[in-house]
Amino acid sequence: MCHCIACQQRTGAPFSANSRFAREKLEIQGDSRTWERKADTGNGVIHHFCPDCGTTVFWELTGFPDVVAVANGLFADPTYPAPTVCVWEESKHSWTDDIANQPMERWAKMPE
Ligand SMILES: [Zn+2]
Repeated sequence: MCHCIACQQRTGAPFSANSRFAREKLEIQGDSRTWERKADTGNGVIHHFCPDCGTTVFWELTGFPDVVAVANGLFADPTYPAPTVCVWEESKHSWTDDIANQPMERWAKMPE
């Protein structure tokens, strides 16, 4: 899970939940458009976007060339394992510490 400002801006959400996979165990297929930025660490991040819908399908971290990152939400699986590492907490939105107990209306689906 990453609370860096760049991930907040990339996702439009207060944090991102991501998985890293060994590059050697992945087979990447299909076309993507790329955009590179500098991470807060100073390393490069190369984002790969679907050329049709613009979704970020994966990204590469120049500081960790042996891994490829994928946003957990892309698996469309609510039972996907929870993140086990949390970084950039200095820029965390404080209310995310206790999301499950935030006072708010809760709906299982969006009302029609
Ligand atoms: Zn981040």
